[in-house]
Amino acid sequence: MLWRQQQLGFEARMGSYIDGHCHLDDASFDEDRDAVWERARAAGLVGAVLAGVSPETWGRQRALVSRYAGLVWTAGLHPCAVAGMSPVQIRTALDALPACFVGPNPARGLGELGLDTRLVEPASLDRQLPVFRHQLAIARDHALPIVLHLNGRGVHAAALSLLRADGLPNAGGMVHAYSGSAELVAEYVALGLHLSFAATVCRADARKVHRAVLSTPADRLLVETDCPDQSPPGCARRNEPQNLLVIADAIARIRSETSLLVLERSRRALIGIFPAAFPL
Ligand SMILES: [Zn+2]
Repeated sequence: MLWRQQQLGFEARMGSYIDGHCHLDDASFDEDRDAVWERARAAGLVGAVLAGVSPETWGRQRALVSRYAGLVWTAGLHPCAVAGMSPVQIRTALDALPACFVGPNPARGLGELGLDTRLVEPASLDRQLPVFRHQLAIARDHALPIVLHLNGRGVHAAALSLLRADGLPNAGGMVHAYSGSAELVAEYVALGLHLSFAATVCRADARKVHRAVLSTPADRLLVETDCPDQSPPGCARRNEPQNLLVIADAIARIRSETSLLVLERSRRALIGIFPAAFPL
């Protein structure tokens, strides 16, 4: 164990890593955001993708990108936010969305968009599906990469059929915190998407996710924290970007690779998805 920690520390000093998905704009970081990002940089991170949730996050994300170098943001309506919004609120938010992609420090991708039947009432799929479809069309029109949130029973079948029917933006994108089966990995890869993995991979009993990690092509595999949510086992309850190394280490063990390789490939893939944002 000790040699692994030493190895991880060594690799961290060598690194220039990017957190593929996080919410550093979240209010839980208001008290100590500078220190959190400083810790991330000390661990070897040089960048992060801030994923959008609702109009409330969009302004905060844009402001944060201007404050810390290396951050990129995406704007979107998260399916769980959609589930709690009225039709008028949804319409207003969708009308405001295109403005996120212009002006100083614009959003470089569309997301989170997608479907959730686990965290919110499955009946809200009636509202989630058209909003997913509408945002997918905006992404195609603006040639923006997408950040998909797909969580819960039945969401992968529904999302795959929608993506195939309507088409993806040429810029591709990612399925964040992938929780689907190993078999479905090939379907997303065939559509040109990347699969991003969060701290669930650290759990010894998460065999379904481990199999998905193994079946993901090396150049399509991303690493993310999704902080402040999804803290790795043994870490503080509030997740933060520096834990990217813990997650990469778990992926490396599953794939019998080094965490340096996992992180470096993920960095390159993220630069490929967001070329305008990460001119590294
Ligand atoms: Zn997220």
